[in-house]
Amino acid sequence: MTKLKINGLIDEPNYEKLKCTCSKVQDDILNKHPLKKCLSCYCKIAIDSMPRKTFEIILKDKKGNTETKTISEITIDRSEEGLQMVRGWKF
Ligand SMILES: [Zn+2]
Repeated sequence: MTKLKINGLIDEPNYEKLKCTCSKVQDDILNKHPLKKCLSCYCKIAIDSMPRKTFEIILKDKKGNTETKTISEITIDRSEEGLQMVRGWKF
């Protein structure tokens, strides 16, 4: 596995300025992880769930033939304004 080329990374996205507001109260089960995440944690999970290494996908055509394709480059889909959070990524 080699390093994935990631387009659209930015050094200090605005969401990093958010402070975590998740409940730290031990018995407050409904308001803390994993049931509830604050916006700060939500943005971090979004970027952490993005792949960092090349990966393979299996493509299938109409005849049912499969082909394995290695993905070595992805582009981040990010909200341009506001928090600049990662909404997803495409290849
Ligand atoms: Zn949080």
